[in-house]
Amino acid sequence: MGKVRIGTVWLGGCSGCHMSFLDLDERLIELAQVAEIMSSPITDWKLHTPVKEYQDYPEVDISLVEGAVVNTDNVEVLKLVRERSKILVAFGDCAVTGNVPSYRNLFKTDDVLNSVYLDKATHNQMIPSDRVVVPRLLNKVVPISHVVKVDYFMPGCPPSADSIWYTIKCLLEGKEPEFSKEHYRYG
Ligand code: SF4
Repeated sequence: MGKVRIGTVWLGGCSGCHMSFLDLDERLIELAQVAEIMSSPITDWKLHTPVKEYQDYPEVDISLVEGAVVNTDNVEVLKLVRERSKILVAFGDCAVTGNVPSYRNLFKTDDVLNSVYLDKATHNQMIPSDRVVVPRLLNKVVPISHVVKVDYFMPGCPPSADSIWYTIKCLLEGKEPEFSKEHYRYG
């Protein structure tokens, strides 16, 4: 039997969940014996910035998706990743609930843009109009389950390396991961 194909995806998050993935440390070697990381910002980040680069996202068995859905690019990428993934896991609290990025929902989108690009900018004050460079913000930040079907929700901000390992091991063994208090972690 071939190796299990895994992809990881970075939407509107701080990359802390991916940093926690790297904390698997020597377990990454164990993982490499049974699975292949087909696509991930930790293997080639430049493929994980503009939405057009995600057109090459491969068919995978498992995708771990970090981050909330904050802009139009995120929506496109997420739908494409869903289509190409047998199992899709919301990877960390931003993906699960919206978490930190959803604080923006307390404000109007125009007010946020004006504050960042005009009021607080020290030079070149202008709101970017090139949607390729800066994707259009959604009016509301949402968790990924508001856009696509999610198979499993891995909690934590970020999830601990132990939680990530537990989830991956369950999925590799064909078991359902069950998250309890010990899997919740903040900071
Ligand atoms: S869940 Fe926490 S660590 Fe992960 S992307 Fe969101 S803020 Fe960062």
